[in-house]
Amino acid sequence: MKTKLLYHQNSYTYECTAKVVAVEGDEVALDATVFFPGGGGQMADQGTISWDNMQVQANIITMNKRDDVVWHMIDCTPPPVGTQVVGTIDWDFRYRMMRTHTALHLLCGTIWKEFGVQVTGGQMYPDRARMDFAMENLNKERIAYIEEKINEAVEADYPIRIYTLPREKAFEIPDLIRTRINLLPPEIEDVRIVEIVGLDLQADGGTHVRHTKEVGGIKITKTENKGKINKRLEIMLTD
Ligand SMILES: [Zn+2]
Repeated sequence: MKTKLLYHQNSYTYECTAKVVAVEGDEVALDATVFFPGGGGQMADQGTISWDNMQVQANIITMNKRDDVVWHMIDCTPPPVGTQVVGTIDWDFRYRMMRTHTALHLLCGTIWKEFGVQVTGGQMYPDRARMDFAMENLNKERIAYIEEKINEAVEADYPIRIYTLPREKAFEIPDLIRTRINLLPPEIEDVRIVEIVGLDLQADGGTHVRHTKEVGGIKITKTENKGKINKRLEIMLTD
């Protein structure tokens, strides 16, 4: 049993039909899903599952990806196995996540390019995102410079390419090694790559926009010291 991850094939798909392949308590497993279950710092999608000609509609409470199956926990009695359902994403929320997620790639790509500094962690929220860097010196001028460089990259409208590489090929790419690709579980044979052409390359399972211009623009809203050499930067999209 395996759920087809439609959000990996095309992150702009906001609706799909799917078949219930298993039910456990209030969790439903589908043969395909548009819902990103959360992970890698990106929040899980919100949305609904409908069936019986859209007469029954359930909200998704949470999702769990166990092995290759995405389980959708819903707020009413699940439909029986074999039922055809329609899954619909809260697109406003998702698209914001895609823009925010892409903005974080711009941030870490820029900081690496300009200062050779690595990311140590990150998290997205509905209205902002943060990322930690092993950076010793971070002053006002530097912050302004980083912000300017990111917004230049937004304006430059770099394309974002998504593809997969065999594990051993991916492990030969220095840019992927710096983002600690070695932490990937050994059972993963094909590595999904997200590339902002010319700026950033990462092994990544999240959803992103297709061109950097869609990010719109960013503002660095907060910086914080997190340990001796760790700096936390918080960003917001400017709409
Ligand atoms: Zn990403």
